[in-house]
Amino acid sequence: MTNSKELFREVVRQIALPESKAEIESIAYLLLEKKWNINRTDILTQKHVTINQPEVDAYIERINAHEPIQYVLGEADFYGRLFRVNPSVLIPRPETELLVQQIIQYSKSIDKPITILDIGTGSGCIAISLALELRCTIKAIDISSAALAVAQENATRLKANVSFMESDILNNSLTEKFDLIVSNPPYISQLEKQNIKPNVLNYEPHLALFPIGEDPLLFYRVIAAQAQRALHPNGSLWFEINEHYGKEVCEIMKVNGFDNSEILKDWNGKDRVVWGALS
Ligand code: GLN
Repeated sequence: MTNSKELFREVVRQIALPESKAEIESIAYLLLEKKWNINRTDILTQKHVTINQPEVDAYIERINAHEPIQYVLGEADFYGRLFRVNPSVLIPRPETELLVQQIIQYSKSIDKPITILDIGTGSGCIAISLALELRCTIKAIDISSAALAVAQENATRLKANVSFMESDILNNSLTEKFDLIVSNPPYISQLEKQNIKPNVLNYEPHLALFPIGEDPLLFYRVIAAQAQRALHPNGSLWFEINEHYGKEVCEIMKVNGFDNSEILKDWNGKDRVVWGALS
């Protein structure tokens, strides 16, 4: 038996990250709570718990190797829900919540059930959140079968009705029609790669971060061209974007028939979403 307060202190002491004390403590609280069900009250009241020390050490080792805490815990928060994650999917980002929020707002103003396609679904966080918030029929595709397994598990756990399919958008044409298409494709350029933090670069799937080849806008070109054919009249296309390419993405939208696309800023004031509708 271990005193949970001592366990907490020991975990805090052993976490050797360059973060502030408050952040390290919050990682320790999260770890104890999620892995051994030890909450803050248990720690305060010094509840006695039975834990397996080698297991504790193994988690601390992963944290100290800069593995993102979401992978260590196996879950991440997104739009008010918990999603399972592992290194075959990108960890859902708060910026992507903006994309979801804006789509929900827009779609609620259309007074009928809509059909949606999510391209490059990853953990499924966008598709599942939309399925649970809107009256819609939603499909989601990804090139990675490992990612789709995570997405399917999330949909089942969260009771969301999404149909998943393995497909590479660069090499397959869309055959169905939709009212709305959304994508958060890989958009980190080769130049930016050098500035990415090791916890992202060493752990998150490169397939989801970096477009193939030199063109950081490759997915935007392909998806916008496909969307022009695969959307119903008045259908809309929604992208999460690299903050440096707002104008370029709008230009790609224009070339493909989305005349009045709009750039939306995230909570850090950075260009983060581009959307437009077919006329
Ligand atoms: N926003 C992610 C990051 O900064 C990148 C997501 C993406 O490439 N689609 O790590």
